[in-house]
This record gives sequence, structure tokens and C-alpha cells, in this order.
Amino acid sequence: MFIRKIDQERNFQTINMIGLAGVIFLMFFGGNAIFRDNYFIAGVLFGSAFMGSLSILVMRRTQNFSYGSYGISITVALVFCYLIASGGVQNSGPLWCHSLFLVIMLLQGFKKGLIAFFILLVISTVLLFYPDLPFVTAEYSYSFKVRFIASFLSLGVMASIYEYLRSKSQSDYETISRELDQASRTDALTGLANRRAMQQCLEVEQSLYLRHGHPYSLIMMDLDYFKRINDKYGHGKGDEVLITVSRLLLKEVRQQDVVCRWGGEEFMILLPQTDQAQSLLVAEKLRQVIDQLALDALGIVDPVTASFGTECILNVRNTAELIAEADRKLYEAKRHGRNQVFDPTGRILSMETAG
Ligand code: GH3
Ligand code: MG
Ligand code: MG
Repeated sequence: MFIRKIDQERNFQTINMIGLAGVIFLMFFGGNAIFRDNYFIAGVLFGSAFMGSLSILVMRRTQNFSYGSYGISITVALVFCYLIASGGVQNSGPLWCHSLFLVIMLLQGFKKGLIAFFILLVISTVLLFYPDLPFVTAEYSYSFKVRFIASFLSLGVMASIYEYLRSKSQSDYETISRELDQASRTDALTGLANRRAMQQCLEVEQSLYLRHGHPYSLIMMDLDYFKRINDKYGHGKGDEVLITVSRLLLKEVRQQDVVCRWGGEEFMILLPQTDQAQSLLVAEKLRQVIDQLALDALGIVDPVTASFGTECILNVRNTAELIAEADRKLYEAKRHGRNQVFDPTGRILSMETAG
């Protein structure tokens, strides 16, 4: 993701630089052509400079890279054909064609660059070997024509290989960057979101809340007496319990909820579009499924339970307070005897009794 962004920015800068250099180059030769009274060549060169500048301006205005890259590539291709057909100044025009093609390859990348290469190869062969065409005014020796095509071919092959290898390592870097990005946001043991990912999700949710006013809630959960499980069954079994509980949590919450391993045996669940009462109900549901979780398959006969604290953003000022309040309530749930959701209003109990 990062690499792609860096690459886009570099493409943008490349177009600006190449475009500017190209426009200056074309204007210089345009001025030179006027000086030599060759007004037609001057017109073509100034026209191309105008087209190139226009492409860059449109690209800058729209922030759309393709306007600049296609605009400049087409301009460059037209100048390429024109230089071969007219010969430029004293038949020196084709000397510039190789570097013009490199500009197209640089801007278009491997696939489109290769297509452009074949098109330009065919066009230059036709222009060179069918001089009877009405707009072909240059006259080259036979050996010059053959050498031009041969040198253009070798440049095309070299540039294509280079560009192919470059784009391949580019996509390798992109894959690695994506994997690293994913790993940096994932908990290695459980595969859940880690603390860093949760912080990012909270920031996004908070900005949505500030903009649209949709409330969200947070559940803080901690496994009870987990140290005992480790002490009795070993750390490896403890890890397996953490993985099993993580899967269960993921299964029980909605798709848009974010389950995170906040630390050790502590989990945090972000519930978008959820108020305080709903968050208490979700927490109570999770408490029950963990309480009923059978761990016989892992060889664990002791019950595993968890305590919960929840808080809604409507009751606090920011995400730091949201986390602190959910944590405080979790501590209260522990203090009141564990395996429970701390509910100062008694709302869950009354709803359950009513239900
Ligand atoms: P409480 O009900 O007060 O939360 O008791 P507790 O034993 O769960 O809490 P305490 O903070 O005393 O101990 C937490 C334990 O969680 C200690 C540690 O061994 C265990 N733990 C933390 N992270 C991991 C982990 O990644 N794997 C395993 N197996 N155990 C872990
Ligand atoms: Mg604990
Ligand atoms: Mg803990």
C-alpha cells in the first residue's frame, strides 16, 4: 500500500519533470527552426510543446496521472513519427527517436510500452521504406535505414527487459509491503487485530461518530484466573485456550465488530452503531458462551470464564476515556466476583428477568 502510494507520487513527479524538460526541449528546437526559416517544423515543435504542457496542466488540475502520461506519450509518439518522416534538420531527426521511445516506456510501463514499441517499429519501417508516401520528405541512405531499425530493435529489447524486471520487483515489493502491513496489525498467536490495529479502528470510528453522530461502544474482557490454567496445564495449553476463545469471539460478534487481543488474556471488542444497553447485552451473550465453552478436547476440565466492562462513546469525551471507563468497569466486574458483566444500572438482569 505504502509502496504503491510512493510509486504513484514518483510517477507524478516523473511526468512533471519529463514534461517540463520535453516542453523546454521542443521550444528550443522550435525557436531554432524559426531561426532557420523552417516555419513548418517550428509549427510542429511548438504545437507539440503546447500539447505536452496542456496534458501536464490537465493532470495537475484533475490529479489524474493518466491524463499526463497518455497526453505526453501521444505527443512524443507524434514527434517521433514526424522526425522520421521529415528528417528534421538536415536528416538528423531520427537521432532523437530512441530517447523519445524511452520516455514512452518510462511513462507507460512494460506492457503498454511494449505495445508502443511494436507500433512505432511498424510505423518507422513504413515511413523509412515507403518514401513515396505524400508526407514523407526525408531521404535516407539504405544502410542508414537498416541501421536505424536494427538499433531501434535492440533498444526496444533492452528497454523491455529492463522494464519487465523493474515491474516484477515492484510487484514483489508491493506483496511484501502488504504482508508486513497485515502482520503489523495482527496478533501472532490468535490472528485477531492487535492493539495498534484497534487504535486505528477506534480513530476511524471516532471520526465517523463526530461527523455523523452514530454512537459506538467498547467491550473490555479479561479471562478469569487464567494464571491457574497456565500453572495447571502449562503455557502451551493456555495458548490453545486463548486461540479457542478468540475464534469463539469472532464467531459470536457481527461482521462489522472488531475483536482485538489487547494484551495477555485481555480482549477488546469495538461495536460500531451500538449504544450502552446493546453493548451490555452483547457482553452478556459473550460471557455465557465462554462460560459454556467445553475444553475437553484440549484436556482442560476446569471452567474458563471471563469478566466484562463496557462503555459507550455517548457517556465519555474521547477514546482514551472510553477505554479507561470500560477498563474500570471490567475491574469492578472482577471485584464483584468475576464471570460477570459489570452493569451498574442492573439493566441486563432486569431485561433477562423480563425476558
Ligand atoms: P484475573 O481473574 O484477576 O484476571 O486473574 P488472572 O490470573 O487471569 O490474571 P493475572 O493478571 O494474575 O494473570 C494473567 C495471566 O495470563 C498470567 C499469564 O501467564 C497469562 N498470560 C498472559 N498472556 C499469555 C499468553 O500469551 N499465553 C498464555 N498461555 N498465558 C498468558
Ligand atoms: Mg485475567
Ligand atoms: Mg489480565
